[in-house]
Amino acid sequence: MLNFCPNCGIKIEGEWHACPYCGHNLQSEWGTQSSQQPSSPTPPVPPLPPYPQQAAQPTTIIYPPKQNNTNGIIALVFGFLGLFILPFIGSIVAIILGSIGRKKDDSPEMATGGLVLGIIGLLCWAIGIVFIVSFIMSIFSGMYGPPF
Ligand SMILES: [Zn+2]
Repeated sequence: MLNFCPNCGIKIEGEWHACPYCGHNLQSEWGTQSSQQPSSPTPPVPPLPPYPQQAAQPTTIIYPPKQNNTNGIIALVFGFLGLFILPFIGSIVAIILGSIGRKKDDSPEMATGGLVLGIIGLLCWAIGIVFIVSFIMSIFSGMYGPPF
């Protein structure tokens, strides 16, 4: 038994229930034809499309490959958190995830950004604490001892 898919025109051998290429339901097409007109000659063959390779998969939309940048995105988020909300903890998370993302992510730019943000956050808070501590020290030394 040799037939052609009425939808995409591909050759179909045997008793397929559906076109293996485009998924067109063949049972409904043939079931009515063969049962009502058993003596009819071979069913009309639809003309082959000029590009059967392209027409064979009309329902399949080819998406661009999904980029996996989870580490980089989280590193960026924690980099910002480390700057403003989560001192040190956020920055350390950003640095760790950033370095992981630079190896694993599809585009290492985000991970690099998170890594840099984490380092900046760490430096800012470290410098800030040094300033605050020295400021407090100067107040205390001004109150309790001779200024230096
Ligand atoms: Zn088909």
